[in-house]
Amino acid sequence: MTVALVGAGPGDPGLMTARALELIAAANVILYDRLIPGGALDGAREDAELVYVGKEPGVPAMEQERIGELLVEYARAGRRVVRLKGGDPFVFGRGGEEAEALRAAGVAFEVVPGVTAGIAAPAYAGIPVTHRDAASAVAFVTGHEDPDKAQAALDWEALARFPGTLVFYMGVGRLPAIVAALTAAGRSPDEPAAVVERGTLPGQRTVLATLETLAGEVTAAGLRPPAITVVGPVAALRERLAWLEARPLHGRAVAVTRARAQASGLAARLRALGADVIEAPAIRVEPLPATVPDLAQYDLVVFTSPNGAGLLFDRMPGDARALAGTVVAAIGPGTARALRERGIEADVVPERAVAESLLEELADMRVERALIARAQEARDVLPDGLRTRGVEVDVLPLYRTVAEPLGGEALAAALGADWIAFTSASTVRFFLEAAGGEMPRGRIVSIGPVTTAALRDRGLQPAVEAADHDVDGVVAAILSDATGTPHRG
Ligand code: SAH
Repeated sequence: MTVALVGAGPGDPGLMTARALELIAAANVILYDRLIPGGALDGAREDAELVYVGKEPGVPAMEQERIGELLVEYARAGRRVVRLKGGDPFVFGRGGEEAEALRAAGVAFEVVPGVTAGIAAPAYAGIPVTHRDAASAVAFVTGHEDPDKAQAALDWEALARFPGTLVFYMGVGRLPAIVAALTAAGRSPDEPAAVVERGTLPGQRTVLATLETLAGEVTAAGLRPPAITVVGPVAALRERLAWLEARPLHGRAVAVTRARAQASGLAARLRALGADVIEAPAIRVEPLPATVPDLAQYDLVVFTSPNGAGLLFDRMPGDARALAGTVVAAIGPGTARALRERGIEADVVPERAVAESLLEELADMRVERALIARAQEARDVLPDGLRTRGVEVDVLPLYRTVAEPLGGEALAAALGADWIAFTSASTVRFFLEAAGGEMPRGRIVSIGPVTTAALRDRGLQPAVEAADHDVDGVVAAILSDATGTPHRG
């Protein structure tokens, strides 16, 4: 079996390569480091063995030699092995040593390059490491070398003379010594220089200064590892090219309480706007055993949630043609979209995504038999309202919403987020139950009137309610609330 030495990129999960994700999904064993992106192992097999071999500050680390031995042992046991490292495996990652150990043992290996922090962190800070006018070379340097060491491996004279950008890894604690060594060796103290902390991760911070003032400013700002230091005229381009900080939700935390399976669309959209998204799924959708009747016998079929739409189509006999002669109603735009994905265009979508509005919308329609596909615990406004009009109504409960246990860390982060988004009455109920009496300290966002009512019942007042009761509406509500809302903390 072969071993793959895989780079996981600098921290933003979106910067993992397609090949890295593919190998992680196929691996039996993954030996991973500390600085890999959050969620990097989410795609691993259920039965994959995940072995942490990273270095923790203050904790004895696994010997490098032992890691090499482990790789060989797992490979010889016939396992598919991934050795997952932050950034690129061959850039200050000791991947070279691990490859040598494998070669010495006669174990075949593959190397998957990763996006290295020395390029990615500057890029996310608006600093191109090369530039036609400002730098035609770039050097990657480890800041670990002690410049005071008698036989320092780094040639500071040569580095000072280097005609291009210097990028230092591992440099925060060593910064004053690095700067002193460079200037002593002749690099201009006026040269632009920057330190990027937690590059590509939520909360990335950058300090731009000159070589002379950098160490002081970094200390004043309290920057900590992991960080990349860039020395060279390109650093100053950040003044014009910074882009991350320009995004509307940059540096703001938004908690999303909806079920994990439904959260990804909302989370992705918020992340694209720069938000640090805290996924705090308070609920989970549990499908119920249900037999879907022949839909052709109804002249109206009502869908009250995207979940209901998905589950009905998964279980119905036949296909969408069963709805050919039937009026299809969706409670709101999210449900209408779920139907569209199944090839059905809803005939009726009320302006406001509540049962009362849907009833109004259906007032003039001649209906004899209706089917309502919904959650077990839904309100009875709709079936009752239709029945008073003499409609024969069948209610088909397709799922129920149950509490999802919330980890203490996710809960604490959600309670402290700048915004917390509630996308249904049940997320309100189950989140607050999980919070055990503690209330969110950030601004509350509600997807619509029913959710708002659930919040008010519990003494919470939303800062903003979405005008469109779907994911886009929630994003728009947060954006409008963000304009003119100052940063907290
Ligand atoms: N193989 C990795 C580097 C490992 S050395 C790569 O190619 O990126 C670890 C050093 O990388 C850290 O001390 C820090 O200087 C840098 N580093 C890693 N991730 C970083 C990040 N997200 N932001 C800034 N620096 C980072």
